[in-house]
Amino acid sequence: MRWVVVGAGAAGCVVAARLVEDPSAHVVVVEPGPDLTASTTPPAVTSLDYVAALREQDRLATTKAVRNAGGAVTDYVTGRGVGGSAAVNGLVMDLGDSAQYQAWGWHDVAEAAVRVRVPRQIVGEELFGVVDRALLSTRRAAHPVELSVRDGRRVTTAEAYLDGARADGHVDVVVGVGVDRVAFARGRATGVVLDDGTRLDADGVVLAAGALGSPAILLRSGVDHVPVGIGLQEHPSVTVTLRLRPGAPRAGVATGAAWSTGGVVVTTMNHTRTDDAVGPEYGALHVALVRPRSRGRVVLDGDGHPVAHFGQLASTYDVDQLIDGLQRVGEALEHPAFGDVVEVVFRDADGTPADFSARDGLADWVRSADGAWLHPAASCPMGTVVDDDGRLIGTANLFIVDASVFPEIPAAPTYLPTLMLAERLAPRVRRAPE
Ligand SMILES: Cc1cc2nc3c(=O)[nH]c(=O)nc-3n(C[C@H](O)[C@H](O)[C@H](O)COP(=O)(O)OP(=O)(O)OC[C@H]3O[C@@H](n4cnc5c(N)ncnc54)[C@H](O)[C@@H]3O)c2cc1C
Repeated sequence: MRWVVVGAGAAGCVVAARLVEDPSAHVVVVEPGPDLTASTTPPAVTSLDYVAALREQDRLATTKAVRNAGGAVTDYVTGRGVGGSAAVNGLVMDLGDSAQYQAWGWHDVAEAAVRVRVPRQIVGEELFGVVDRALLSTRRAAHPVELSVRDGRRVTTAEAYLDGARADGHVDVVVGVGVDRVAFARGRATGVVLDDGTRLDADGVVLAAGALGSPAILLRSGVDHVPVGIGLQEHPSVTVTLRLRPGAPRAGVATGAAWSTGGVVVTTMNHTRTDDAVGPEYGALHVALVRPRSRGRVVLDGDGHPVAHFGQLASTYDVDQLIDGLQRVGEALEHPAFGDVVEVVFRDADGTPADFSARDGLADWVRSADGAWLHPAASCPMGTVVDDDGRLIGTANLFIVDASVFPEIPAAPTYLPTLMLAERLAPRVRRAPE
């Protein structure tokens, strides 16, 4: 059985490795970004301080995005290269809300999560930063977060899944070129066509190009019998910028703690700078809505590139939840534990002072925030675009296995949910095509 897996991100690495557990299977993974194996992973990527990984510019892709309906077009960042977004992400591992999965009819989530090979660990207290410590001592419900690390370094999905399968010769990885479209004949996928026009034939195709990339490929392939791209979500978020008092150390983790309060999750950043410039150090508290009601869609621009219309904040419920969350953060920041480490609180990177007192002002803050927690999801939802096995409805041997296929965005940062999803679907994909 010849498979093509499109995209070597979080889900792509899992599904490729699981498919070749069938000894008759061979997988070609296609990835437009650079390669990555355990022995070539730069120290910035393995660093506990994930902000360092964001300096690896060739590992970042930008997509045009419109956050709120009618808003400005901005650049939206995802990861590229073997490891995908998971090689540059914030390391936070949270499976989410089991009640949400039950409501989708996903009763095997716990078993799938146990199979995830990427480690999760709470680091030692000595690695927490000043914002972590302040939040943990201020709010009893705040807690340290699990991170995808072992022995003081990030373990990528590529390392946990793909390296072994490549070494065994069952998986080949083509890097530096993406997939333009899927080739079809008589209602079946026959392979993929790369951006340079090369054709790769396959008995089965798995799209794992992420919640922006996978719908874009289907749209470029002319798939129009199901509502591809519709349903896209992100966790709308607002960043509270903290100018730290001089002397705040930069060592340890960038994000070590979180606080769930009402409908939002507040996560820490102990520093934010991706450069070595001398000057004040900044930290942040990200306030993110984990069960947003608003939804958007992925469309193509005139050149066939995806544009992410997130449609955030269309629901007043979403705006109100974020305002409530900001108010609670404002109260927390009045605690002396924050006063000891924070000099000034800003509402944006331009230095506008934060004011948590009036709901009108907070509504304006919420609406003008950039709102990106970088968790695109649910653009090819299960039930409308794919079936329960991740198969494109109506096409026996074409699957989507990535953050696109969540019925709605999981109520947690999306990395571990995506790994769990890939572990859940990989055995079904392996069994499925005749
Ligand atoms: C900076 C950042 C920080 C984050 N922090 C966290 C966090 O702390 N915790 C958390 O839970 N989540 C976090 N996330 C989100 C998390 O990493 C993603 O939800 C997860 O990686 C999604 O997995 P995926 O397989 O759907 O997509 P990805 O991991 O994004 O992989 C998609 C892959 O497909 C490739 N691709 C795209 N188009 C094509 C094409 N045409 N042909 C072939 N390949 C293609 C891409 O290059 C990429 O490698 C973060 C994301 C970013 C960007």
